[in-house]
Amino acid sequence: MQNDQTFAPVVLVTNTAPMTAAAYGGRAKCAQRLIRLDMPVPTTVALSFKAVHDLAQGHALDLGLVLPHFGAAPLLSVRPSSGSPDWGGPGAILNIGMNDRKFSELCESHGETAAATLYLRFINAYATHVARLDPDAFDDPETPTAGDVMKALTTYCDEADEPFPQEVDVQLAHVLRSMARAWEGTSARLLRQAKGAPADAGLGLVVQAMAIGVGRGECGSGVIQFASSDTGLPEIHGRYLRQSQGREALDRQVGSLYLTKDPRGPSFEETCPEAFKQLLDYSVLARQRLREEMQIEFTLESGKLAILDAVRIVRSSSAAVHIAVDLARDGIIPREDALMRVDPKALSELLHRQVAPNAPRSVLAKGIAASPGAATGKIVFTASDAQASAARGEAAVLVRRETGPEDIRGMHSVVAVLTERGGVTSHAAVIGRGLGLPCVVGASDMRIDGQKKTVIGRNQQILREGDVITVDGTHGEVLVGHVETVEAGLNTAVTTLLGWADELRDIGIRANADTPRDAQTAKNFMADGIGLCRSEHMFFEADRLTVMREMIFAENEADRAASLERLLPMQRADFTELFQIMEGRPVCIRLLDPPLHEFLPADRSGLRDLAEALSLPLSRVTERVEQLSEYNPMLGLRGVRLGITVPEIYEMQARAIFEAAIDSGVDASPEIMIPLVSACREVELVKARIDAAAAAVRVERGQSFSYSLGVMVETPRAALRAGEIAAYSQFLSFGTNDLTQMTYGLSRDDAGRFMSSYVQQGVYEEDPFHRLDKEGVGELLTLGAERGRAARPEVVLSICGEHGGDPEAIAFIRQCGFTYVSCSPFRVPVARLAAAQCAI
Ligand code: PEP
Ligand code: MG
Repeated sequence: MQNDQTFAPVVLVTNTAPMTAAAYGGRAKCAQRLIRLDMPVPTTVALSFKAVHDLAQGHALDLGLVLPHFGAAPLLSVRPSSGSPDWGGPGAILNIGMNDRKFSELCESHGETAAATLYLRFINAYATHVARLDPDAFDDPETPTAGDVMKALTTYCDEADEPFPQEVDVQLAHVLRSMARAWEGTSARLLRQAKGAPADAGLGLVVQAMAIGVGRGECGSGVIQFASSDTGLPEIHGRYLRQSQGREALDRQVGSLYLTKDPRGPSFEETCPEAFKQLLDYSVLARQRLREEMQIEFTLESGKLAILDAVRIVRSSSAAVHIAVDLARDGIIPREDALMRVDPKALSELLHRQVAPNAPRSVLAKGIAASPGAATGKIVFTASDAQASAARGEAAVLVRRETGPEDIRGMHSVVAVLTERGGVTSHAAVIGRGLGLPCVVGASDMRIDGQKKTVIGRNQQILREGDVITVDGTHGEVLVGHVETVEAGLNTAVTTLLGWADELRDIGIRANADTPRDAQTAKNFMADGIGLCRSEHMFFEADRLTVMREMIFAENEADRAASLERLLPMQRADFTELFQIMEGRPVCIRLLDPPLHEFLPADRSGLRDLAEALSLPLSRVTERVEQLSEYNPMLGLRGVRLGITVPEIYEMQARAIFEAAIDSGVDASPEIMIPLVSACREVELVKARIDAAAAAVRVERGQSFSYSLGVMVETPRAALRAGEIAAYSQFLSFGTNDLTQMTYGLSRDDAGRFMSSYVQQGVYEEDPFHRLDKEGVGELLTLGAERGRAARPEVVLSICGEHGGDPEAIAFIRQCGFTYVSCSPFRVPVARLAAAQCAI
């Protein structure tokens, strides 16, 4: 626990009091900052993390250290002060010190309603949070009277079997202890840990003299902020409620005033112009000196302004970027700080497709917008059905009452998630955001019938398994059918921030892009180049697939040469387009790595189609497919093994690349990568043929071009033998997908079936295909990098598996001295920011 023993357990917060946020919490430290800005903060005393922890353990606190600061018969509030406001904590308790005597005094000075309001509120809070009585036993009348107070005191006495405590020290001691204990309760701890708090996160408490927002004259309380929580743009937001305390203005919007002039009703600006002006001045000061956009909590007591608290305004991902960029642009924080203030994963929220603004919306259900973006897919009701549809290549939406850990594998397989229950911190919401999946939770106006496999929508519309819906995770709506969506766009604040990131990062960010469309996305997201073009993915379209199959089926060299001749112009055109889109940025093309089963028909109708296309009898095709089928295709005739056994294929590809480099008219300098290498001799053989192809093209075309040749390190043996392999390779790119598969001996295609059980039982902390295994796979990366570099100091090192876009993996390989990472185009902005954060 951060409970620095050198700090006093209790401190009066002043300009100069020795205190840190690490010992007393953020709220206490913030109170000191507000005091230093000369804001009218009521007397405040802070209890350290250690003092609060001791209280929770049953040690008494010497209230002689607290109460004397507040004079005789004070009215006090106690609020939590933890390491981060996001971690939650016990609610504030106000009006401590209210008793029968104070009530009579306040009836005189503030009027009966005000006095009864204060006393009742305290009795209710104390009864519920300290004495743990049933809140329903206590009323909350609109205009309370002395009679209501009497009734509440009697109820308290009946329910608690003792009279309501009258002494402020007794009241305060109990309040402090109950708040300290609430923090250390198991559910509170689990909740905050889910929000990123360390297991030993401490709680401080802030005791403050009440500024009473009820009484005679202009009394009330409110909150004000000067930037929008949605967009981050400068805008005054907040509420003010007359005759109120604490954050009531926010909780009870009815009757509260708009802050600025508003046609819908009277405003605080018009009613209390001086206080409004003062708040504006404070806001400028707070932004400048606290170097943040703050929400200020204030009270007016007979027209006199008191500033009680200030917290960072809550903000959407988009607002977070805007605020950070604006603060840096205004010279309030350095650019480095702005970069550190934005969570790279939050950036990915801004990068998702959205429902087109004018698209017709037939709403099936409404819920909480838990994770942004929009996606369309067929309804599935179970994680295993989700995985099955992913295996068929169908986009699916997982629809569940709520999700649990056993659904994680299913969530990895779908395009969106929808649950009937749950809130923003529910399992589905947290995991959905983590995966960047559009997600709507708590859609309680629909009903799921898991038995009949139906969803009944808000208008009694019945949808069945397999029906198509669109999840709009940005607006919390579920729409019937396929709805038009628009590509994500980066706003100028994001572009600016990423521009700063690019100036600071010292590791390259490329994209895995197989098609011109991917390449365009990569360029839009300002990737430094293409780090992996999986050339076999260029053959997944039907017409090309047939030619590819012809080539695979060729039984003699002449037939194969004929198919290759047809493939050459297709490849050349593909590569020309890639080079032109990338305009001279590096493009690394991986030679064919087709696990053969991906290119062979899987069922009878596919076999029949193929027989027709090849003009062969079905029996002949079936026989050939059987001949080619492998027991373990991921470890079969893949990658360079194909290049060694059927060298003409790689020769054709190399020629296509070189001719495209010339035809593209840009300075293309292609990089050619050999996949699935396990032995140095493989590289030696392939390199000789590629160099020969280059020489031939140079002579034929009478033009020179440069290129580089490298190896994809995907087998443990390639990592171990990286030294000798580097002798033939200008670059080594670690394919962490296959490397993970082979290091664990864990099938990429089958691990999903038992991964959730493994993760649940803590065998693996996380699915190693999602989070880089730094210990095992990471050691091979380190070893491979060291050995490669020892043999060839200038060798370029990179990773291009799915891990390439993960901030943790980026930090890891940066430490290993790698040159760049390559990740899916949509993760490029995230990776650019993460890389900059590593360098700061
Ligand atoms: C890899 O194995 O990490 C890789 C990038 O290649 P593929 O996913 O195509 O096997
Ligand atoms: Mg691979």
